[in-house]
Amino acid sequence: MAASETGELQETPDLYGEYPRLNGSQMAELEQVGTRRATQPGEVLYRQGDLNCDLFVVLEGLVAVVDEQLPDPPVAVHGPGRIVGELGMLTGTAVLLTAVVQRPGVVLALPLIGVREIVNDDPALGDLILRALLIRRSLQIGLGAGLRVLGSRYSPDARRLREFLARNRLAYRWIDLETDAEAESMLRQLGIRPEETPVVIWRGQTVLRNPSPAQLARVLGLRGVKPAVRVRDLVVVGAGPAGLAAAVYGASEGLETLVVECTATGGQSVTASRIENYLGFPAGISGAELADRAVIQARKFGADLTLPTTAMSLDREDGFHLVTVDGEESFRGRVVLIATGVRYRKLDVPGIQAVESASVYYAATEMEAVMCRNDPVVVVGGGNSAGQAAVFLSDHASKVHLVARTAELEQEMSRYLADRIDRLRNVDVHLGSEVAEVTGRKELEAVVVRTSVTHERETLPARALFVFIGTQPHVQWLGDCVALDEDGFVRTGPDAAAVRHGQEGESPPLMLETIRPGVFAAGDVRRGSVKRVAAAVGEGALAVRLIHQYLARTGLSRRSARAPLHVK
Ligand SMILES: Cc1cc2nc3c(=O)[nH]c(=O)nc-3n(C[C@H](O)[C@H](O)[C@H](O)COP(=O)(O)OP(=O)(O)OC[C@H]3O[C@@H](n4cnc5c(N)ncnc54)[C@H](O)[C@@H]3O)c2cc1C
Repeated sequence: MAASETGELQETPDLYGEYPRLNGSQMAELEQVGTRRATQPGEVLYRQGDLNCDLFVVLEGLVAVVDEQLPDPPVAVHGPGRIVGELGMLTGTAVLLTAVVQRPGVVLALPLIGVREIVNDDPALGDLILRALLIRRSLQIGLGAGLRVLGSRYSPDARRLREFLARNRLAYRWIDLETDAEAESMLRQLGIRPEETPVVIWRGQTVLRNPSPAQLARVLGLRGVKPAVRVRDLVVVGAGPAGLAAAVYGASEGLETLVVECTATGGQSVTASRIENYLGFPAGISGAELADRAVIQARKFGADLTLPTTAMSLDREDGFHLVTVDGEESFRGRVVLIATGVRYRKLDVPGIQAVESASVYYAATEMEAVMCRNDPVVVVGGGNSAGQAAVFLSDHASKVHLVARTAELEQEMSRYLADRIDRLRNVDVHLGSEVAEVTGRKELEAVVVRTSVTHERETLPARALFVFIGTQPHVQWLGDCVALDEDGFVRTGPDAAAVRHGQEGESPPLMLETIRPGVFAAGDVRRGSVKRVAAAVGEGALAVRLIHQYLARTGLSRRSARAPLHVK
């Protein structure tokens, strides 16, 4: 966005569909759900940190959207016909920027409920708005406009905070105590001692000293739901693709649904830069966009979501399932769906502990790319996740070394990815190899790679190590209340029936049901599942159909009158 020669602010051009100008009929449609309001220069329409605020459309005048800690130049300037707002307004989180009227005029204030109506009544207009807000959020993340996180790159607490923000797609600017000249002066200005870092700076001068992700989430409006006394029809644990699909299908089919998530919506899919094999998206879709769309959809149907909330145990009480979460609160459900997915195993090689918090990553997104721009990096793993990471990082790193145990890339990786890697000039593939050790005192300096057969060693200079080796299901919280296989994956259906010692005449577990009646599992955490987004989404949807069947069979369904089921 630029100022004209006379110094007047000018509208920011719309380059990618992030600032579309609405036409007359679209404006007329929005007028039906909005309220007109006159504006004065300097008037704040919304401010960083505000929750539940309206979206606006400029009818007359000019509105600037600014980062309060860096107000000049504005992030964007909007004139008549343009939407003023950000994605948080639809997902229910705090806004990260501030909108200030520059030239007086008139705006249309659109409450969330009105925007939802539009999305239902006019999908094309709804999608135009949603798409604009999604692109804005990506641009905002790239700009680092929003919160400030100040700390040392070697601090595990700082790393935890940054990961939490990144996984939740919340824009922030990282100020590194070790390298950024402005860090010292900011600390002095705000009266913060270096040992009090990491800090999050918020609303200009508000400083959160070393907050936990849960504290930060509360401030940002993420942690919404209080454990209610009432019993939910369905408690879903995990908001990856499987859990979110179950939330959408469950809530839309009349089940009172709550989703409990320990880190961020989207699960593993948001650690991938782009998903190219999800049906209906020929150009690919980012896991983040898929997750945000699903969250908006689930909320539209009335599903509740709480995060970061970690399920710690699963019990039974008074005939209901009890999911106890951190903080020792609990949620009760007629049915529970385990959709806690998997995580990548840590690489256990000499030297890794010293560099773990500064240089080892288990995801490859914009956040990680920023940390290793123009540096050489090593990616370990032979599957699709490693392949995607190598492709994505080749755009940011000076050199990418892909280290895989397999003899051929295609052995565990999709052909399209292997072919693409073949064509990338700055990616070197080390097949039949594994990491022997890493070197570096606080930050990674090199990765020593050893061939599996001849044990020949090669030292690869690197500043970041990306690990995508073998997965481990998230099942610690389940104790022994469901049956697991030898690798820890949850047994369901016939697989569970084989190990259940039920009463005579008891119905065998339904297809995705565990040995515990009324507890289902879907997605990557389930034994035998296909580890793909589409498969997880399919299982989340299928689980809801089976849950209805279970509720009907057990007479627990109190909704059947309200929500007609189409179960054959
Ligand atoms: C880097 C990468 C790239 C990938 N690329 C592709 C691709 O291109 N195409 C494709 O089809 N698939 C891809 N996948 C695989 C795909 O993302 C997974 O198959 C899919 O996300 C599985 O979904 P899920 O819901 O079963 O589990 P997850 O996505 O693992 O979600 C589980 C959720 O449960 C939460 N959770 C765990 N424990 C608890 C607890 N105790 N309490 C509360 N919440 C908990 C986790 O935080 C997580 O959000 C990729 C995976 C990775 C890691």
